[in-house]
Amino acid sequence: MSAVLETTETTTAVGAPVVRITALRKSFGTNEVLKGIDLDVLRGEVVCIIGKSGSGKSTLLRCINGLEEFQDGSLTVDGKPLLHESAMAMRALRQRVGMIFQGFNLFPHLSVGRNVMLAPTLVKKRSGADAEAQAKKLLTRVGLAEKFDAMPEQLSGGQQQRVAIARALAMEPAVLLCDEITSALDPELVGEVLRVVESLADEGMTLLMVTHEMSFARKVSDRVIFMHQGRVHEMGPPADLFGSPKTPELQQFLSSLH
Ligand code: ADP
Ligand code: MG
Repeated sequence: MSAVLETTETTTAVGAPVVRITALRKSFGTNEVLKGIDLDVLRGEVVCIIGKSGSGKSTLLRCINGLEEFQDGSLTVDGKPLLHESAMAMRALRQRVGMIFQGFNLFPHLSVGRNVMLAPTLVKKRSGADAEAQAKKLLTRVGLAEKFDAMPEQLSGGQQQRVAIARALAMEPAVLLCDEITSALDPELVGEVLRVVESLADEGMTLLMVTHEMSFARKVSDRVIFMHQGRVHEMGPPADLFGSPKTPELQQFLSSLH
């Protein structure tokens, strides 16, 4: 775990679980895609999820930010249970959970700066001046200070994805969920996005990310989770999972990548 953790200001205790998932089950019709997931993500921790397509990785992230309802088990963020029955609780939750997807999903008709300012002004009722100052700071942090007035279509995919990161950070989330955020990028643009994510990790951001970038997962994670057929099949420090995978399924998955 990063040393930054000890110095980061937090709303709950250092190292306390930001996300706590217990016996989570989720089905689409008769297809059970999450078959009892137990997972805690601690404050400041970087957890990477790996696994074959269809193993339930995206569904798990979508449950955590309230995009999917689940049938059984419990899920808390910052100690607060995720209750789909309560619209107010769900709104509060969405403010605490940032999510970035494979596609860039910027609002095409808004400038880069306006994209970052939108949620803080609408949801957090920040003043325009406040939101603008914050957006400028965040765009500087992702290396795009000079793009404040640019339109999304003028940016490369890597730059758009960095704006998406700034936009997610503008809500000051307790945890940032990333779902294959470099998968749609041309190979030469992957590095600039991963470097931003790495800097967030170094600063103590709590991160839960699905990734196909194994060398990145190995370098940056505190913990790696291998999902297989809707279960956490193997979990541990990256050196263990990548260096000495225990289950035949993980061994097979890792060798399929070479
Ligand atoms: P991964 O992200 O690991 O590739 P997903 O979470 O996207 O896996 O999908 C897990 C399983 O759930 C797959 O069998 C997929 O077909 C199914 N699934 C995902 N989303 C839906 C949906 N909206 N409706 C029905 N089935 C879905
Ligand atoms: Mg997926």
